[in-house]
Amino acid sequence: MTNLVRTIESVVESQPDRPAVVYEDHELSYGEFWAQTGQFAAALREHGAEPGDRVALYLPNLPQFVVAFHGALRAGCAVVPMNPQYKSREISHLLSDSGATTVVALADVVPFVEDVWDDTSVERVVTVGGDTDTGTPFREFLTEGDDSVADRADDDVAVQPYTSGTTGKPKGVQLTHLNLTSNAEQSIGIVEGDVQPEDRKIGVLPLFHIYGMTVTMNAALFAGAAFYPLPSWDAQEAMALVADADLTLFDGVPAMYNDVINQPNAEAFDLSSLRQCTVGGSGIPIEVLRRFEELYPVKIYEGYGLTETSPVTHFNSPNWGRRVGSIGKPLEGIDARIVTEDFEDVPPIETGPVDEDEADMDEITGELVVAGPNVMKGYSGLPEANEEAFTEAYGKRWFHTGDLGYHDEDGYFYVVDRKKHMINTAGYNVYPREVEELLFEHDAVADVAVAGIPDDRRGETVKAFVVTAPDADVTEDELKQFCLERLAEYKHPREIEFVDELPRTTTGKVQKFELVDE
Ligand code: ATP
Repeated sequence: MTNLVRTIESVVESQPDRPAVVYEDHELSYGEFWAQTGQFAAALREHGAEPGDRVALYLPNLPQFVVAFHGALRAGCAVVPMNPQYKSREISHLLSDSGATTVVALADVVPFVEDVWDDTSVERVVTVGGDTDTGTPFREFLTEGDDSVADRADDDVAVQPYTSGTTGKPKGVQLTHLNLTSNAEQSIGIVEGDVQPEDRKIGVLPLFHIYGMTVTMNAALFAGAAFYPLPSWDAQEAMALVADADLTLFDGVPAMYNDVINQPNAEAFDLSSLRQCTVGGSGIPIEVLRRFEELYPVKIYEGYGLTETSPVTHFNSPNWGRRVGSIGKPLEGIDARIVTEDFEDVPPIETGPVDEDEADMDEITGELVVAGPNVMKGYSGLPEANEEAFTEAYGKRWFHTGDLGYHDEDGYFYVVDRKKHMINTAGYNVYPREVEELLFEHDAVADVAVAGIPDDRRGETVKAFVVTAPDADVTEDELKQFCLERLAEYKHPREIEFVDELPRTTTGKVQKFELVDE
């Protein structure tokens, strides 16, 4: 028997007065935070919620997210996190598929819930901020009552996030109490470099996404550190908070680090209080990492993971040495392999990273598959998707990440790109990330995405979408030439389009399908 929230109980007992969640001028101590999660759990029970019921959180990063998340788990319910930017059409599937009975929503988005109410099992809405006709304000919902921690089995679902659904309907990812407890423990000890109660951590990655939820929020709370949620990303605001509150830990996606270094006053940010930064969600271009570390006295440690793996599977821990360009080594208890289409092992190279222009990439790469206690139970109600996602072999259940990579004899892994992003041009394979990394080295390039576009002759052709640095003066031909001089000819972008910005998800990933469709 287990329950993810039990991990906080001992922290609360040992340090009830230390800050748990700090937002603007409000501070919730661990004692207050625990009391509120108890009141949220009691309220759910009073309204008839049973263990296993789904509670959807339709909120940005606010203290109420943190309280409702742990309060719902405390009552034995499972959390369905929803992107607060979603509208009716997008939440409709999530609410009906998950069978959520309670929704906690920012007042502004309650009308979207009302729109779809009749097609779902929603029975109540708890509102945060503002006035609404339906719903109970968060403070009024909280009540004294049965605030016990419900016992759950290891494989009971604790959180059910949804994939973003770029290919078909979003899939509900069933993450159990065991999945999340194991990954949060690894995050406290290894990923975050041994988080201590004295640490102060920014919470600017979206909490509805697994990276922000586990690595940022839960790893902070389970270690007794102070957590500073910020509802949206703004480089100036985030850097000001780091300096003003002397924050010590920062988790971000590559787009955030790139945004920081491209601010006109980047050199003036005082980030001297930070002792560690982590990055994941997509590969950080080496140039971005280098420029950030030139400007500020803190190192960025890269990790890798997916929603389906709760999320972290690999990390460049200071414990075993950081290797720039690598996603690091698998965490303890997690097995990883690089396999061919027939699930044959692809042998490791001697040491990486390789120069992708020189190495025989087709020979050394394969799909990254992983197994461990953090790997999801499965997609909810989708037997065919589960069949595709897993392979039983070597006495384990291997999850197919959909990423192509290679590994070396020192145990480091390298992701070259997503399988579905690989470009096949006139029979040659091109990994967009290699071309992106190169273009980032050009002074005039502030941001870039490379994708394959249909081409009658070549099947696909390589195209780069470039955001130029302010005041930069560069032509398409100059950038093409820059690539031609440094890459095999078939890899260079035959087309270049200058754009104002790249379409990104809230977790900073470039939505390549949008660029290509336009
Ligand atoms: P969807 O919701 O459609 O599944 P998604 O695949 O982006 O979207 P996530 O679980 O957020 O969902 O992301 C996992 C993916 O992010 C990985 O499969 C990998 O492609 C990418 N990724 C994460 N970390 C890294 C990294 N350090 N380097 C390269 N890619 C990474």
